[in-house]
Amino acid sequence: MSYFLRRTENNLWHGKFSTFPEDLITHAVSTRLGGVSKPPFDSLNLALHVGDERADVLANRKKFVQSLGFKVSDIVTPNQIHGDKIFRVDENYRGCGCENYADSIPETDAIITNTPDLPLMLCFADCVPIFFVDAENCAIGLAHGGWKGTLKKIAAKTLLKMKSEFGTRPKNCLIGIAPSIGSCCYEIGGEVIDKCKAAFPKNFDELLINRDGKIFLDLWRANVIQLLEVGVPEENIDVAGECTCCESSWYFSYRAAQKNNLDRTGRIAALIALKNL
Ligand SMILES: [Zn+2]
Repeated sequence: MSYFLRRTENNLWHGKFSTFPEDLITHAVSTRLGGVSKPPFDSLNLALHVGDERADVLANRKKFVQSLGFKVSDIVTPNQIHGDKIFRVDENYRGCGCENYADSIPETDAIITNTPDLPLMLCFADCVPIFFVDAENCAIGLAHGGWKGTLKKIAAKTLLKMKSEFGTRPKNCLIGIAPSIGSCCYEIGGEVIDKCKAAFPKNFDELLINRDGKIFLDLWRANVIQLLEVGVPEENIDVAGECTCCESSWYFSYRAAQKNNLDRTGRIAALIALKNL
Protein backbone atom coordinates (compact mmCIF):
# COMPACT_ATOMS: atom_id res chain seq x y z
CA MET A 1 0.00 0.00 0.00
CA SER A 2 1.25 3.43 -0.60
CA TYR A 3 -1.16 6.37 -0.43
CA PHE A 4 -4.32 5.86 1.58
CA LEU A 5 -7.06 7.83 3.31
CA ARG A 6 -7.67 7.41 7.03
CA ARG A 7 -10.67 8.73 8.90
CA THR A 8 -9.85 10.72 12.04
CA GLU A 9 -11.62 10.97 15.38
CA ASN A 10 -13.08 14.38 14.57
CA ASN A 11 -14.58 13.11 11.33
CA LEU A 12 -11.96 14.33 8.87
CA TRP A 13 -9.88 12.34 6.42
CA HIS A 14 -6.09 12.26 6.29
CA GLY A 15 -4.38 11.28 3.06
CA LYS A 16 -1.16 9.48 4.01
CA PHE A 17 1.87 7.71 2.61
CA SER A 18 2.47 4.35 4.26
CA THR A 19 6.15 4.59 3.31
CA PHE A 20 6.75 7.51 5.69
CA PRO A 21 8.06 6.66 9.18
CA GLU A 22 5.20 7.39 11.58
CA ASP A 23 7.57 7.37 14.54
CA LEU A 24 9.56 10.28 13.09
CA ILE A 25 7.04 12.50 11.33
CA THR A 26 3.44 13.64 11.33
CA HIS A 27 1.94 14.24 7.91
CA ALA A 28 -1.38 14.43 6.11
CA VAL A 29 -3.10 15.65 3.00
CA SER A 30 -6.51 17.14 3.75
CA THR A 31 -9.64 16.46 1.75
CA ARG A 32 -12.50 18.90 1.12
CA LEU A 33 -14.81 17.03 3.52
CA GLY A 34 -15.76 17.92 7.09
CA GLY A 35 -15.35 21.71 7.13
CA VAL A 36 -17.67 24.68 7.57
CA SER A 37 -17.10 26.75 4.40
CA LYS A 38 -20.02 27.39 2.06
CA PRO A 39 -20.04 26.79 -1.71
CA PRO A 40 -17.93 27.12 -3.76
CA PHE A 41 -15.49 26.55 -0.88
CA ASP A 42 -17.33 23.59 0.58
CA SER A 43 -16.30 22.61 2.89
CA LEU A 44 -12.80 22.21 4.37
CA ASN A 45 -11.15 25.11 2.53
CA LEU A 46 -7.80 25.78 4.18
CA ALA A 47 -6.64 28.82 2.18
CA LEU A 48 -7.11 32.43 3.31
CA HIS A 49 -6.50 34.04 -0.09
CA VAL A 50 -9.25 32.58 -2.25
CA GLY A 51 -12.20 34.76 -1.23
CA ASP A 52 -13.71 32.55 1.45
CA GLU A 53 -14.90 33.86 4.84
CA ARG A 54 -11.83 34.24 7.04
CA ALA A 55 -13.62 32.92 10.12
CA ASP A 56 -14.62 29.78 8.23
CA VAL A 57 -11.07 29.18 7.00
CA LEU A 58 -9.70 29.61 10.51
CA ALA A 59 -12.31 27.19 11.88
CA ASN A 60 -11.32 24.70 9.18
CA ARG A 61 -7.62 25.16 9.88
CA LYS A 62 -8.25 24.65 13.59
CA LYS A 63 -10.09 21.40 12.95
CA PHE A 64 -7.48 20.09 10.52
CA VAL A 65 -4.37 20.93 12.52
CA GLN A 66 -5.94 19.82 15.79
CA SER A 67 -6.58 16.45 14.19
CA LEU A 68 -2.80 16.21 13.79
CA GLY A 69 -1.99 17.39 17.31
CA PHE A 70 -1.17 21.04 16.55
CA LYS A 71 -2.58 24.52 17.11
CA VAL A 72 -3.27 26.95 14.26
CA SER A 73 -0.61 29.23 15.74
CA ASP A 74 2.01 26.54 15.13
CA ILE A 75 1.79 26.33 11.36
CA VAL A 76 4.22 27.90 8.92
CA THR A 77 2.84 28.59 5.47
CA PRO A 78 4.12 30.58 2.50
CA ASN A 79 2.60 32.87 -0.07
CA GLN A 80 2.89 30.53 -3.09
CA ILE A 81 3.60 32.18 -6.43
CA HIS A 82 4.46 29.27 -8.79
CA GLY A 83 8.15 30.11 -8.47
CA ASP A 84 11.12 28.02 -7.43
CA LYS A 85 12.24 29.72 -4.23
CA ILE A 86 12.91 27.37 -1.34
CA PHE A 87 13.05 28.72 2.18
CA ARG A 88 14.46 27.15 5.32
CA VAL A 89 12.35 27.81 8.39
CA ASP A 90 12.97 27.33 12.09
CA GLU A 91 11.38 28.23 15.39
CA ASN A 92 11.49 31.95 14.50
CA TYR A 93 8.94 31.37 11.77
CA ARG A 94 6.39 29.51 13.87
CA GLY A 95 2.94 30.91 13.07
CA CYS A 96 3.91 32.74 9.87
CA GLY A 97 0.78 32.85 7.72
CA CYS A 98 -1.23 30.90 10.26
CA GLU A 99 -4.02 33.46 10.64
CA ASN A 100 -3.13 36.21 8.17
CA TYR A 101 -2.15 35.72 4.57
CA ALA A 102 -0.11 38.94 4.72
CA ASP A 103 2.42 37.50 7.14
CA SER A 104 3.00 34.26 5.22
CA ILE A 105 6.59 33.47 4.19
CA PRO A 106 6.77 35.77 1.12
CA GLU A 107 6.91 34.43 -2.43
CA THR A 108 8.01 30.92 -1.63
CA ASP A 109 6.93 27.59 -3.09
CA ALA A 110 8.87 25.15 -0.94
CA ILE A 111 9.81 25.16 2.73
CA ILE A 112 12.25 22.93 4.54
CA THR A 113 13.18 22.49 8.19
CA ASN A 114 14.92 20.36 10.76
CA THR A 115 13.06 21.95 13.66
CA PRO A 116 10.87 19.45 15.49
CA ASP A 117 7.16 20.07 16.11
CA LEU A 118 7.06 22.83 13.49
CA PRO A 119 4.29 21.95 11.00
CA LEU A 120 4.86 23.08 7.43
CA MET A 121 1.70 23.63 5.42
CA LEU A 122 1.06 24.42 1.74
CA CYS A 123 -2.24 24.79 -0.13
CA PHE A 124 -3.33 23.18 -3.40
CA ALA A 125 -6.12 22.84 -5.92
CA ASP A 126 -4.66 20.56 -8.66
CA CYS A 127 -0.99 21.55 -8.29
CA VAL A 128 1.32 18.81 -7.06
CA PRO A 129 2.20 18.57 -3.35
CA ILE A 130 5.63 17.00 -2.91
CA PHE A 131 6.71 15.73 0.51
CA PHE A 132 10.38 15.12 1.44
CA VAL A 133 11.46 13.00 4.40
CA ASP A 134 15.11 12.62 5.36
CA ALA A 135 15.01 10.30 8.36
CA GLU A 136 18.80 10.07 8.51
CA ASN A 137 19.29 13.78 9.23
CA CYS A 138 15.83 14.43 10.69
CA ALA A 139 14.88 16.97 8.04
CA ILE A 140 11.74 17.48 6.00
CA GLY A 141 10.50 19.53 3.10
CA LEU A 142 7.27 20.35 1.31
CA ALA A 143 7.01 21.77 -2.21
CA HIS A 144 4.30 23.14 -4.51
CA GLY A 145 4.65 22.02 -8.11
CA GLY A 146 2.16 23.39 -10.56
CA TRP A 147 3.24 23.33 -14.19
CA LYS A 148 5.48 26.35 -13.66
CA GLY A 149 7.18 25.01 -10.54
CA THR A 150 7.45 21.53 -12.02
CA LEU A 151 9.13 22.82 -15.18
CA LYS A 152 11.40 25.00 -13.02
CA LYS A 153 12.36 21.72 -11.26
CA ILE A 154 11.27 22.82 -7.83
CA ALA A 155 11.25 19.23 -6.55
CA ALA A 156 14.88 18.62 -7.57
CA LYS A 157 15.89 22.05 -6.23
CA THR A 158 14.19 21.38 -2.89
CA LEU A 159 16.13 18.16 -2.53
CA LEU A 160 19.41 19.90 -3.41
CA LYS A 161 18.63 22.63 -0.89
CA MET A 162 18.04 19.96 1.78
CA LYS A 163 21.37 18.47 0.77
CA SER A 164 23.24 21.74 1.26
CA GLU A 165 21.37 22.75 4.44
CA PHE A 166 21.03 19.41 6.23
CA GLY A 167 23.35 17.01 4.45
CA THR A 168 20.41 15.09 2.98
CA ARG A 169 21.55 12.22 0.77
CA PRO A 170 19.19 11.73 -2.17
CA LYS A 171 19.47 7.95 -1.92
CA ASN A 172 18.10 8.10 1.64
CA CYS A 173 15.33 10.65 1.06
CA LEU A 174 11.72 9.48 0.85
CA ILE A 175 9.35 11.34 -1.44
CA GLY A 176 5.55 11.45 -1.53
CA ILE A 177 3.75 12.90 -4.53
CA ALA A 178 0.26 13.60 -3.26
CA PRO A 179 -3.11 13.82 -5.07
CA SER A 180 -3.10 16.46 -7.79
CA ILE A 181 -4.22 16.75 -11.37
CA GLY A 182 -3.36 13.69 -13.46
CA SER A 183 -2.53 13.34 -17.12
CA CYS A 184 -6.10 12.04 -17.52
CA CYS A 185 -7.36 15.62 -17.06
CA TYR A 186 -4.46 18.04 -17.45
CA GLU A 187 -4.84 19.32 -20.98
CA ILE A 188 -2.30 22.00 -21.85
CA GLY A 189 -1.72 24.49 -24.64
CA GLY A 190 1.17 25.67 -26.82
CA GLU A 191 3.11 27.75 -24.31
CA VAL A 192 3.25 24.97 -21.73
CA ILE A 193 4.10 22.38 -24.38
CA ASP A 194 7.07 24.45 -25.58
CA LYS A 195 8.31 25.07 -22.05
CA CYS A 196 7.97 21.38 -21.21
CA LYS A 197 10.09 20.42 -24.22
CA ALA A 198 12.72 22.96 -23.19
CA ALA A 199 12.75 21.79 -19.56
CA PHE A 200 12.79 18.07 -20.38
CA PRO A 201 14.59 17.77 -23.72
CA LYS A 202 15.24 14.04 -23.19
CA ASN A 203 11.92 13.04 -21.68
CA PHE A 204 9.15 15.22 -23.08
CA ASP A 205 7.79 12.35 -25.16
CA GLU A 206 6.71 10.48 -22.07
CA LEU A 207 5.42 13.63 -20.36
CA LEU A 208 3.28 14.99 -23.19
CA ILE A 209 0.46 12.60 -23.95
CA ASN A 210 -1.50 12.98 -27.16
CA ARG A 211 -5.14 11.93 -27.06
CA ASP A 212 -7.50 12.81 -29.89
CA GLY A 213 -5.27 15.67 -30.95
CA LYS A 214 -5.20 17.15 -27.46
CA ILE A 215 -2.02 17.29 -25.40
CA PHE A 216 -2.01 16.33 -21.73
CA LEU A 217 0.89 16.85 -19.32
CA ASP A 218 1.96 14.20 -16.81
CA LEU A 219 3.04 16.38 -13.89
CA TRP A 220 3.58 13.39 -11.61
CA ARG A 221 6.11 11.80 -13.94
CA ALA A 222 7.80 15.17 -14.55
CA ASN A 223 8.42 15.45 -10.83
CA VAL A 224 9.60 11.83 -10.57
CA ILE A 225 12.05 12.30 -13.47
CA GLN A 226 13.69 15.37 -11.95
CA LEU A 227 14.09 13.57 -8.62
CA LEU A 228 15.67 10.56 -10.34
CA GLU A 229 18.05 12.97 -12.06
CA VAL A 230 19.35 14.24 -8.71
CA GLY A 231 19.85 10.74 -7.37
CA VAL A 232 16.65 9.70 -5.60
CA PRO A 233 16.04 5.99 -6.28
CA GLU A 234 12.71 5.29 -7.95
CA GLU A 235 11.69 2.95 -5.11
CA ASN A 236 11.91 5.91 -2.69
CA ILE A 237 9.30 7.88 -4.61
CA ASP A 238 5.69 7.17 -3.76
CA VAL A 239 3.19 8.57 -6.25
CA ALA A 240 -0.36 8.65 -4.88
CA GLY A 241 -1.72 8.44 -8.40
CA GLU A 242 -4.99 10.07 -7.43
CA CYS A 243 -6.30 12.82 -9.72
CA THR A 244 -7.92 15.74 -7.94
CA CYS A 245 -9.99 16.64 -11.01
CA CYS A 246 -11.41 13.10 -11.34
CA GLU A 247 -11.87 12.93 -7.57
CA SER A 248 -13.25 16.42 -7.09
CA SER A 249 -15.84 15.20 -4.60
CA TRP A 250 -12.88 14.43 -2.31
CA TYR A 251 -10.41 17.18 -3.23
CA PHE A 252 -10.58 20.77 -4.39
CA SER A 253 -9.78 21.00 -8.08
CA TYR A 254 -9.43 24.20 -10.04
CA ARG A 255 -10.01 22.44 -13.36
CA ALA A 256 -13.09 20.62 -12.07
CA ALA A 257 -14.47 23.92 -10.75
CA GLN A 258 -13.90 25.53 -14.15
CA LYS A 259 -15.81 22.71 -15.84
CA ASN A 260 -18.70 23.54 -13.53
CA ASN A 261 -18.45 27.23 -14.45
CA LEU A 262 -17.11 28.20 -11.05
CA ASP A 263 -14.32 30.74 -11.09
CA ARG A 264 -13.30 30.05 -7.51
CA THR A 265 -12.79 27.02 -5.32
CA GLY A 266 -11.13 26.07 -2.05
CA ARG A 267 -7.73 24.57 -1.33
CA ILE A 268 -6.66 21.36 0.28
CA ALA A 269 -3.49 21.41 2.34
CA ALA A 270 -0.45 19.22 2.73
CA LEU A 271 1.11 19.30 6.19
CA ILE A 272 4.27 17.73 7.56
CA ALA A 273 6.19 18.04 10.82
CA LEU A 274 9.08 16.28 12.52
CA LYS A 275 8.21 14.66 15.78
CA ASN A 276 10.06 15.78 18.90
CA LEU A 277 11.79 12.58 19.88
ZN1 LIG B 1 -8.24 13.02 -13.94
